[in-house]
Amino acid sequence: MAAYLGLYRSGKLRERVEAAMSLLENCSVCPRKCGVNRLACEVGKCLTACEAMVSSYGPHFGEEAPLVGRNGSGTIFFTNCNLRCQFCQNYSISQLGEGEKVDKEELAHVMLSIQAKGCHNVNLVSPTHVVPQILEALEIAVESGLHLPLVYNSGGYDSVETLRILDGIVDIYMPDMKYDDEETAGELSGIESYPSINKAAVREMHRQVGDLEVDEEGVAQRGLLVRHLVLPYGLAGTKGIVNFLSREISLNTYINIMDQYHPCYKAFQIPSLARRISPVELHEALSLAREAGLSRLDKARSIENLRIRSE
Ligand code: SF4
Repeated sequence: MAAYLGLYRSGKLRERVEAAMSLLENCSVCPRKCGVNRLACEVGKCLTACEAMVSSYGPHFGEEAPLVGRNGSGTIFFTNCNLRCQFCQNYSISQLGEGEKVDKEELAHVMLSIQAKGCHNVNLVSPTHVVPQILEALEIAVESGLHLPLVYNSGGYDSVETLRILDGIVDIYMPDMKYDDEETAGELSGIESYPSINKAAVREMHRQVGDLEVDEEGVAQRGLLVRHLVLPYGLAGTKGIVNFLSREISLNTYINIMDQYHPCYKAFQIPSLARRISPVELHEALSLAREAGLSRLDKARSIENLRIRSE
């Protein structure tokens, strides 16, 4: 049973919606704390005013196996982002504003249509800057029978205050952990404070949902799933991140060490980002995770086999 159903039945989901909406007036929905009045449709650094925007939605089979199962993960790609990653692989959505405005009824309809298609979850992609709008829609969708688990699939720059509003609503947290170094975070994503804010967010997410739990068919039901994209020249700070997870979160953390980095958007203008990662860099990242004691590595074996075959 999705976590939010209990809150809805006890009447507390409404309180959470109101708490989230109140963050919009002097916007502190995310750690940037712009202070603009988004209820009056002012725009902050995420370039999003009162309404959420969606670029696409539907069953997705490219996510991690525990989310995809047999019928797909029901992704909803939200337009815009509170980060400014120079290498964003979805930059037309996150940075260039591709998508359409949706009001709360339309967004509720999107969630219900995903459920009607048989997906295993509602996978909220880049939800950080539109948490209040998502909760408003969720309340409407629940009244019409939504029961799928919610996946909070964020860039990992989330405020603990907002995450606490989501306690008991989100079933599966899937944050990025992009960097371990402030200078790199500032240069590549425009936010020096990313590493400390990101670690605080991951701590809070794990406190709420614990380690990833899957059912007898391997489909995720609840818990934390961390994504870490390996960048060239060790820019992603893999060692610091896997050590943080193993020492301060859990040795049982499920982590996807991703190898698909390729230059996109403004990365071609940054020499250190202008190439893919090498097989050696991927192997090093996986080894660092294992040396840290992490053993739940998504697709690690198949990635390594593929690399060996292609070399
Ligand atoms: S959600 Fe947007 S407007 Fe609000 S604090 Fe974050 S970046 Fe600023």
